[in-house]
Amino acid sequence: MTTDRRHALTVLAEFLDGAPPFEPGHVWLVGAGPGDPRLLTLEAVHALASADVIVHDALVDPRILDLARREASLEYAGKRGGKPSAAQADITGRLVALAREGKRVLRLKGGDPFVFGRGGEEVLALAAAGVPFRVVPGLTSGLSGLAGAGIPATIRTVNQAVILATGHAGTAPDGLDWAALAATGQPIVLYMAAASLAPITAALIDGGLAPDTPAAFLARATTPDEAILVSTLGNLAAAVAEAGLEPPAIVAIGGIVAVRAELAALAASLEATR
Ligand code: SAH
Repeated sequence: MTTDRRHALTVLAEFLDGAPPFEPGHVWLVGAGPGDPRLLTLEAVHALASADVIVHDALVDPRILDLARREASLEYAGKRGGKPSAAQADITGRLVALAREGKRVLRLKGGDPFVFGRGGEEVLALAAAGVPFRVVPGLTSGLSGLAGAGIPATIRTVNQAVILATGHAGTAPDGLDWAALAATGQPIVLYMAAASLAPITAALIDGGLAPDTPAAFLARATTPDEAILVSTLGNLAAAVAEAGLEPPAIVAIGGIVAVRAELAALAASLEATR
C-alpha cells in the first residue's frame, strides 16, 4: 500500500470512529447509493459494520452486503428479483418488531432512502410506533447515474431545473400529467419507467416535446453491468426493446443528454491530436 493510500485510510478510520454509535433498539434507514460500492457514504459503511440485522431491498449491486458484520443476519424485503414481494405494512411491522427485540436494525434501500423508495412511509410508521430512528442519505440513481454517464443534470446552456419523476403509474389517470411536464421544457429524469416507456414517451410527444429530443436509457448505472442507450424521445422505447435492455433503469430526456456525445467527441479529438 502506498503512503498516500495509508494516510487516506487513517483519516477515513478517524471519520468512522467519530460516527454516532448505532444504539441497540434503533432503526437506521440508510441509502445504499446507485450500485457501485465505492459510491456508498462513510456513514453507510459504519452502519453496515455495526448492524445486527440488515433488512434490504433488491440491491442493484449485492457486493454492498459484503461490508456487513459476519454475525449480522440479512433479511430480504425487496419488491423485485423474482421473489415474492413483501407488503409495505409487513416491512414496517418487521422493523418495529426487530427494534423492540433490542437489535440494531439497518434498513438498507437503494439510492437515497427518501427518493421514490417509500422511506418516508417507513419512518412515519417507526415514529408512530415510538421506535427511535435515523436517516442516512445516499446518492440517488437519477442524479448519480446521469453523472456517471457524462450527462450533467443541469448545465447553464440547457436548463434551469430538472424534473425527477416516477413512471410507475405510466399513463394511468391517477398518474402524472405528462403534458404539463413537457410544457416546462425542462429535462425529465424518470425512475421506474421501463415498463411504460412507450406510452410515457408518446404522452410527452403529444404534450409538445419534439420527437428528436435527446433521450437516454441507463440500466444498472454505475455497476459492471451498466448499459447505456442514447436515442431520441421518439425512438427510445423501440430501441430499448430491440436492444433487450431491462430495468432497473433511469430514463433521461432533454438537451442535457446531448452533452454526453459532445464530451465523447471532444475526448476523441484530443486523443487524435496526441
Ligand atoms: N431510492 C432510489 C430509487 C428507488 S425506486 C434512488 O434514490 O435511486 C427504484 C428505481 O430506481 C428503479 O426502478 C430504477 O428506475 C432506479 N434505479 C435505482 N438504481 C439504479 C441504477 N443503478 N441504475 C438505473 N436505475 C436505477
